[in-house]
Amino acid sequence: MGFMPTQSPSVTIVGAGISGLACAYWLGQLMPGISLRLLERADRGGGIIRTYKLSEFCLETGPDCFMCLGPDFIEMCRSLGLESHLMPARSQRGVYLWDGHNPLEIIPGLQMGLTGQPWMALLCPDLSPLGKLRAALQGLIPEAADPDEGLGPYVRRRLQADFAKELPTPLSPGLFSADPHEPGLADSFPHFAVYRQEVDTRHEELTFHSFRGGMQILVDHLAETVQTNMHTGVSVRQILSGEKGWEVVSEDSRRWHSDVLVVALPRAATAGLLGSLDGPLASKLSESGSVSGACVYLGFEPTHIHLPLDGYGFVSQDLAARPVVACTWGPSQQGVLLRTYLRDIDSLSSETLIEQTLDCLRPLLAIDEAPLISHVERYHQAFPKYHVGDIAQVAELEEMRQRHPGLYWTGPAFGVAGIPACVQHARRIAEDILQSIRS
Ligand SMILES: Cc1cc2nc3c(=O)[nH]c(=O)nc-3n(C[C@H](O)[C@H](O)[C@H](O)COP(=O)(O)OP(=O)(O)OC[C@H]3O[C@@H](n4cnc5c(N)ncnc54)[C@H](O)[C@@H]3O)c2cc1C
Repeated sequence: MGFMPTQSPSVTIVGAGISGLACAYWLGQLMPGISLRLLERADRGGGIIRTYKLSEFCLETGPDCFMCLGPDFIEMCRSLGLESHLMPARSQRGVYLWDGHNPLEIIPGLQMGLTGQPWMALLCPDLSPLGKLRAALQGLIPEAADPDEGLGPYVRRRLQADFAKELPTPLSPGLFSADPHEPGLADSFPHFAVYRQEVDTRHEELTFHSFRGGMQILVDHLAETVQTNMHTGVSVRQILSGEKGWEVVSEDSRRWHSDVLVVALPRAATAGLLGSLDGPLASKLSESGSVSGACVYLGFEPTHIHLPLDGYGFVSQDLAARPVVACTWGPSQQGVLLRTYLRDIDSLSSETLIEQTLDCLRPLLAIDEAPLISHVERYHQAFPKYHVGDIAQVAELEEMRQRHPGLYWTGPAFGVAGIPACVQHARRIAEDILQSIRS
C-alpha cells in the first residue's frame, strides 16, 4: 500500500527541526517544484536549534556549535548564503576535570569538544603532544584489526595514556549512556568512525564552528526556503496508509494526503505515530530508549567568578555526582555565561535545578555573588541512547521500514549524530526518494 511512484509525487514531512528542514531543502534542490508540505507542532521551524536573548546574554538553547564533517553541510550553507557567517567557535583551550570532590584540575591544551560541546565530545578527542606525534606517525600506527574498535581502545591507541584513562569515562556514559570500554565503537557512536577517518586522512585537528549571530540563523534561512509549505501549530497524532498513499492525522483531526511521507522526529515520537500502522515496527523503534536532560544557564559579572576560566569548561568524572554532568563557559556581552548540563532531572523543578547548580558551581568556580540571569531549558527524552548493536538495530529497522513503500525517516534517532550529519542524512533520504521515483 501507500506509495505509487509518479513523476511528481507529493511529499509530507512531519517535524521541522534541522532534519525535516534539511530534507525539504534537498528535495527542493533535487526536484524543483516538487509538491512539498512540512507539518510542525511548534509555532516555528528549527526544533531544538534556537538562539535566545535574555538581558544582554545570548543563549543557545540547543546546540551551540558543530563540527563540519562531510561536504553536504558546507554545500548547503554556501547555497543559503551562510558561508561567510561561519566562524570558529571559542578559541580557549583546556578542559577542567572534576572528580566530584576535589577542586577542578585543568588539562591544558585540549581541543574543544571534549567538554566544550559535550554532545559532540566524543567526536573530537584533541591530540596531546604525544598524540600529535603519534598522529604524525600515523602511517606507522597499525589500523585496528577490528573496524568496530571500542572508544577506550581507540583513545588508548591514539592519545596519551593519561587522557585515555580519564576522558572517555565521564563523557561516554554520562552523555551518551554508552560504555566507553565496550567493544564496538562504531555501534555505540557511529559518527565517531567518520571523525576518525577524517582525522586519519587529514592528519590535523578538526575544529568546531558556529554562526556569527547564533545558530538560529541556520534554521531561519532554511525555513525561508520552504516557508509557503510549512504548516506550524500542527501536532501529528497518527499516520495511516491507504489506496491513495499516506494519510497524516493531526491532534485536531485534520488530515493530509501525500504519496511520500518523511518522519523527522525523535525515535520515541516516531514509534508513537506508527503504532497503528505497524505494531512490531513501533515496538522495535521504542526499544533503545532515550534520555532526558536539562541545561541551566547562569550569567555572571566576570569579577564574581574567582577561578581563572582558562579552559572552556569542566566535565564531571564522578557519575554519582549527578545531576551535573558538565559545564561550559564563554564571554557574553554583559559578562560570563555558564551553561551547565544536567541529567536525571525529570522530577526536579526549575528553581531546584538552579539552586543545585549554584550549590555545585559556587565552590568549584569560587563564585561569591548571585547570578545576573538564570534560565532552565529542558529536553524531554531528547537524547538518543547509544548501545552496542545500534548499527545492526538501525539496519533491522530499515528492513522493517521497507515494508511500507513511500515511508522514510531521518534524524539523530537513526544512527546520526550532530547537525552536519543530520543534514547529510536528510540529503541521502531525498536522494532515495528521487531514486524510487525514477526506478
Ligand atoms: C541540549 C542539546 C545540545 C546539543 N548540542 C549539539 C551541538 O553542540 N552540536 C551538534 O552538532 N549537535 C548537538 N545536539 C544534537 C542536535 O541538536 C540534534 O541532533 C538535532 O538538532 C536534531 O534535529 P532534529 O530536526 O532531528 O530534531 P528536533 O530538533 O527535535 O526537531 C523535531 C521537530 O519535530 C517537531 N515535532 C515533534 N513531534 C511532533 C508531532 N507529533 N507533530 C509535528 N511536529 C512534531 C518538534 O516540535 C521539532 O520542531 C544537541 C542536542 C541537544 C538536545
